[in-house]
Amino acid sequence: MSVSDEIKKLKAEIERHNRLYHAENSAEISDEEFDALYQRLKTLEQEVGVSEDSPTRTVGAKPSRGFEKYTHLKPMLSLANVFNNEDFEKFEERIQKRTINEKIIYAIEPKFDGIGISLTYEDGLLTKAVTRGDGEVGEVVTENIRTIKKIPHSLKYNVPKIIELRGEIFFNLNDFRDINKKIETEGGKQFVNPRNAAAGTLRNLDITLVKQRPLDIFVYALGGHSDDLVLKSHKDFIDFLTKNHLPVSDQIKYGDKLVAEATVKNILSLRDSLNYEIDGAVVKVNDIDMQNKLGFVSKAPRWAVAWKFPASEKYSKVNDVLFSVGRTGIVTPYATIEPVLIAGANISNVSLHNMDELSRLDIKVGDSVLVKRAGDVIPQIVKVNPEVRSGAETDVRIPVNCPSCSNQLRLDGPFLKCDAGMNCNKQLFGYFEHFVSRKAMNIDGLGYKINTHLINLGYVKQASDLFKLKDHEAELKSLDGFGEKSIDNLFQSIEEARRPKLETFINALGIPEVGETTSSGLARHYKNFENFRSASLDDLIQLDSIGEVVAHHIKKFFEKDPVGIDSLLDQLDIQDFIVSSDSHLDGIRIVITGSFQNYSRDELKDIIKSKGGIPSSSISSNTNFLLYGEKAGSKYKKALDLGIELVDENKLKEFLKI
Ligand SMILES: [Zn+2]
Repeated sequence: MSVSDEIKKLKAEIERHNRLYHAENSAEISDEEFDALYQRLKTLEQEVGVSEDSPTRTVGAKPSRGFEKYTHLKPMLSLANVFNNEDFEKFEERIQKRTINEKIIYAIEPKFDGIGISLTYEDGLLTKAVTRGDGEVGEVVTENIRTIKKIPHSLKYNVPKIIELRGEIFFNLNDFRDINKKIETEGGKQFVNPRNAAAGTLRNLDITLVKQRPLDIFVYALGGHSDDLVLKSHKDFIDFLTKNHLPVSDQIKYGDKLVAEATVKNILSLRDSLNYEIDGAVVKVNDIDMQNKLGFVSKAPRWAVAWKFPASEKYSKVNDVLFSVGRTGIVTPYATIEPVLIAGANISNVSLHNMDELSRLDIKVGDSVLVKRAGDVIPQIVKVNPEVRSGAETDVRIPVNCPSCSNQLRLDGPFLKCDAGMNCNKQLFGYFEHFVSRKAMNIDGLGYKINTHLINLGYVKQASDLFKLKDHEAELKSLDGFGEKSIDNLFQSIEEARRPKLETFINALGIPEVGETTSSGLARHYKNFENFRSASLDDLIQLDSIGEVVAHHIKKFFEKDPVGIDSLLDQLDIQDFIVSSDSHLDGIRIVITGSFQNYSRDELKDIIKSKGGIPSSSISSNTNFLLYGEKAGSKYKKALDLGIELVDENKLKEFLKI
């Protein structure tokens, strides 16, 4: 292929991917691959010159339809990339040539992998939020942005006539997972990554949907502004943002070249522990006079670079595609791959989620696949690399019968399902594990090994059999590896579990999507088990914390009764939900983290529940309070970020009224 042909082909490719990435939010290739195309084009252009219509001259693709358009006061720019110390040192040399050996101090901060946004404040009031669009013209998404509580509607400190603030909109990883989970249960198409989710949400025309998704933001750059705002440095600007309560990264550092290099290294090492995705660091000249002197070259500032991190993606080979049976009977395909180390984790199994994902990937055994892992996101196969197929690859064998019990499988939406319930050993095993777990019936002395025995020996065929284990006392005590003492302890623990609280029992039932929090809500509402069991679908849907999907799950669960509820009720004495006269925490969502001197976390949960509160396990913008003890970690940090009210052990008594 001639150079001009290759350039022509690259231009078309880059433009197409640019469009998919910016305007249609459905990138087909990874950033790493895109950068490779872009770099190749730039290299070729160095030989033959840059044409007027080259994508290396423009910043992004044109905005898509649906929202009002707005021309930014100052364009939103892209940054030139560096990938290593050597690149960065060249960048500094270029600056030094233009600044005559002034000492250069940089501001260094993480580069968020989200969606660019420009917030306009006029006379201190937030009047517009505009997407980046093509860099010059973006879309007005003010209403959607106003759903982010962290963004102040007005500025109070050093207020200029007009100012554009640039930031990044993103989802925290736990929120991203919740959103995808919700989409999955509603039968929709999940987002590929948090960035796509943020783009899809930010540019969604349905405000009620946007409100349900906790978008987040960091502000990090100054756009156009009136002359009455005088700032000397980026540090001044960050100070301005902080005093005006705009969220900024807590990772910003200032210093010379060596500090910059060390900070970038540090940010890279933090990458996997952050609750949001970053794809590099941004290094800017701190002094604003110097920034102005340096100016721009072909739409990128000369005074800043994006230091791109290596993608947390690697190629690997699919050794096999297998199917595992979960406790609800869903049969999930997963790939076993040649182990690869990605973002600090050794990965050898990757879930393929469901049959739709399997056909989307069009995966074959022996295929080369791109595996991605970012932060604590579960590893996923981004795509198959069909170009390198040798012909020896084989089709995935989709099972007709359950790999555990041989029952014929059926397709339920995108899922393969075994309907054998407790007659399927894998389901019984999974169910039993859940039933006896600490958050359910809380029975000590059971574990993988003894559970396997109990099920294989046929002592446990359904949950209620657990309470009849005494019938097998002699056999159990003679089992290898389980002393008399441990079996006696097990019996004692089983006896103690015979009077579960209503919410504990509901959680133990293992109704799909009914976890601890939902169980508490149901117990509080229905007070006793018979009320709950006889609730109509309409009645369930009316409840605050129950959607239509969960209501259907509950009704279906009682209809099918996969666990043998009546036989359980014969063995148990379920405690009705008692509302204490004090319900000052009614409906309040509370998260507990860290350790406390005088209380265990479970005790605190019980107290909260007894006073009408809802203990929940993860922090979101719906959380009302965080009770924190010693060694509080990421939840504490997140609560600070979200501006959630904090209660420490000193204030516990007063807060809980105990
Ligand atoms: Zn089965």
